[in-house]
Amino acid sequence: MSDGEFDIAVAGAGMVGACAAYALAQNGYRVALIEASVEPAELPRADDQYDLRVSAISPRSRAILETLGIWQRLPAARVCYYEQMSIWHQHGSARVEFDAADIARDNLGAIVENRLVQHALQQACHEQAGIQWYRPDRVQALLDDDDSGLTLRLESGAVLRAQLLLAADGRGSPTRRLAGMQVRAGSYGQTALVANVSTERPHQHTAWQRFLATGPLAFLPLANGQSSIVWSCDDDFAAEVAALDDSGFCAALGDAFEYRLGAVTACSARRQLPLVWQVCDEWLMRRVLLIGDAAHAVHPLAGQGVNLGFSDVDLLAQLLVDPSRPIGLRPLRRYARQRKSETWLAGQGFGALKWFYGQSLPPLVLLRDLGMRTVENTPWFKRALMQKAVQNIT
Ligand SMILES: Cc1cc2nc3c(=O)[nH]c(=O)nc-3n(C[C@H](O)[C@H](O)[C@H](O)COP(=O)(O)OP(=O)(O)OC[C@H]3O[C@@H](n4cnc5c(N)ncnc54)[C@H](O)[C@@H]3O)c2cc1C
Repeated sequence: MSDGEFDIAVAGAGMVGACAAYALAQNGYRVALIEASVEPAELPRADDQYDLRVSAISPRSRAILETLGIWQRLPAARVCYYEQMSIWHQHGSARVEFDAADIARDNLGAIVENRLVQHALQQACHEQAGIQWYRPDRVQALLDDDDSGLTLRLESGAVLRAQLLLAADGRGSPTRRLAGMQVRAGSYGQTALVANVSTERPHQHTAWQRFLATGPLAFLPLANGQSSIVWSCDDDFAAEVAALDDSGFCAALGDAFEYRLGAVTACSARRQLPLVWQVCDEWLMRRVLLIGDAAHAVHPLAGQGVNLGFSDVDLLAQLLVDPSRPIGLRPLRRYARQRKSETWLAGQGFGALKWFYGQSLPPLVLLRDLGMRTVENTPWFKRALMQKAVQNIT
């Protein structure tokens, strides 16, 4: 006897899980949304400080969120669109400048606090009659599964029956572990330092990235004129930088960024996030399906992690469209096959970029310079790269 019968249960109401729950409920499915954390505090007021966790949201992801009516819920004053991207390296003299106008777009993406996207999605889920929340709660056990679905017990003691369980509970996914799905993971040997900083000169609505031998440093524009920095540093170097006081940190940061925006004049608290890659061999097992970071984790250098997750949601919502019919294995296998290969390719590409841009051997510096110059001076190729990036790579 179960406490609830659903078509789909979703474990995790982060950006990807909440988006999947909402999109599938919009398609007419009855959804159970299980989230471990307690209800978040109120939304920030317009003049509140910006959170340290932000994401570059691509135009494709924005379109996915717009179609669902989610993007419109974001406080417009805290969304910062960027029109250019500027990329260069510590070693070598080449640089690549991407401009949205070259592909007839207004922008190449938007920088938004993760908490705002989560809040907008979770509010929409609260208003959706087809979604029942279980919060704070988590899946404790998978009791049984057969061709028609599975039964799960939550920590609260509730027993739910669903045709499908989506594991959207992040990189460490406890739900994936319960299903016995194998994962290959490893450290990139780098830690990302994130902070919000003020600079002497304005950010010019540009996403800047300087590759250093110790890892890439990104300055992402925020709507309040500050920049959000993601400084991925080799672990030993990250420990040195993290130990600096605020003025030492601002000085080291300005220097690492070649003072492209003048001196760094102030910085917020800093946060350190170890960088890990992850590939899952099985995406579907015992009617448990992976989505978002539970399925794939990539280096933040290309700002694609959650964008890949939104593409996961998009495909799944295109495949599951008829709630009057049982959810068969065919669409689930198709989703798993397609997204596994697409995200694997993207992950390999980002890993290779991270390696190549970390090299300081002269022949590799020359080769890299040559590659960057070729991109910069070949307009059709540059446009093709931009088109790929705005479409979430895959
Ligand atoms: C430094 C850094 C910068 C980044 N920048 C970008 C960027 O610019 N652009 C981009 O696209 N991506 C970026 N990413 C990646 C992006 O942050 C992630 O891909 C994204 O947050 C993953 O979302 P998710 O919903 O899959 O998982 P998560 O955000 O991890 O959410 C998982 C949810 O599941 C819940 N949960 C956990 N365990 C359970 C359980 N047992 N039961 C129920 N619920 C549970 C959690 O509370 C949480 O709400 C960056 C990552 C890092 C580290």
